[in-house]
Amino acid sequence: MTSPQLPGFAHLYSGKVRDLYAPLDPATGRPRDDELLLVASDRISAFDFALDPAIPDKGAVLTQLSLWWFEQLADLVPSHVVSASDVPAEVAGRAVRVRRLQMLPVECVARAYLTGGGLREYRADGHVSGVRLPDGLTDGSRLPEPVFTPSTKAPKGEHDEPMSYAQVEALIGADLAAQARDLTVAILNRGNEIAGARGILIADTKVEFGVVDGRLVLADEVLTPDSSRFWPADQWEPGRPQPSFDKEYVREWLTSPESGWDRGSGAPPPRLPDDVVERTRAKYVEAYERLTGQEFTPAR
Ligand code: ATP
Ligand code: MG
Repeated sequence: MTSPQLPGFAHLYSGKVRDLYAPLDPATGRPRDDELLLVASDRISAFDFALDPAIPDKGAVLTQLSLWWFEQLADLVPSHVVSASDVPAEVAGRAVRVRRLQMLPVECVARAYLTGGGLREYRADGHVSGVRLPDGLTDGSRLPEPVFTPSTKAPKGEHDEPMSYAQVEALIGADLAAQARDLTVAILNRGNEIAGARGILIADTKVEFGVVDGRLVLADEVLTPDSSRFWPADQWEPGRPQPSFDKEYVREWLTSPESGWDRGSGAPPPRLPDDVVERTRAKYVEAYERLTGQEFTPAR
């Protein structure tokens, strides 16, 4: 797994999906501390494993979809975007220059529908991240209203753990906690208003915020198939796992008998077959095209 060397930039860090660079100051030749180049790779991870091979064009889909959403959300929250055009040619379409922010140490999650880890928590004791939910909910149920279900930002390779709202307040203070909760829910609601008109339900989503002068700025990626669960609205049927536009498809293949993988064994997952790679790519592209109403082109 190599990150490209980019002339004029210093490589800082590679996350599971993104490579982060700092532009070099032409005057001093040193990395600037106020800006980042965020390059989305085609890497895909599931169950906290990096999978092989990558999904062609995935990085461009994530970058361009996030840029589109940042505009749809601009009246709710400012974003970290500085420029998507002033980037090196070799990463055009999947890179964005952003304001380098002090990130909140919280993964801000909101759920409009119950599934995944939220469903597991609910089945254990009727709560999700400390929020009591009504009885009788099942896999895929719509919640009476979206709930904020934050989690810890675990170091690379470790699992994020659910946090209660009180824990978030203790970590970042009551003011930032309230902003984070209200904005995360507002972003999911706006997302569902827009996506709903295009036949997609956004079951849940994770956002990350940075802080500037005590106010939150939306960073990282937003309302993408990596950070959210997108369901085709016409096939939504509570009581079973929902078909989806996100990497749930890859997760299902990995946990199906077909893959031959025993998730509990600790062994890394098998290589994805070509048809699974191609269908996953098609899901990402379809999500982009349905949401934005624009044809996907990898580089602009
Ligand atoms: P991890 O960093 O734990 O591997 P991840 O897999 O989600 O998490 P990526 O999405 O691959 O990471 O990398 C993006 C990284 O960049 C995240 O650590 C995110 O918090 C950080 N980031 C995103 N936007 C900004 C910003 N504007 N300023 C500073 N950091 C940012
Ligand atoms: Mg990320």
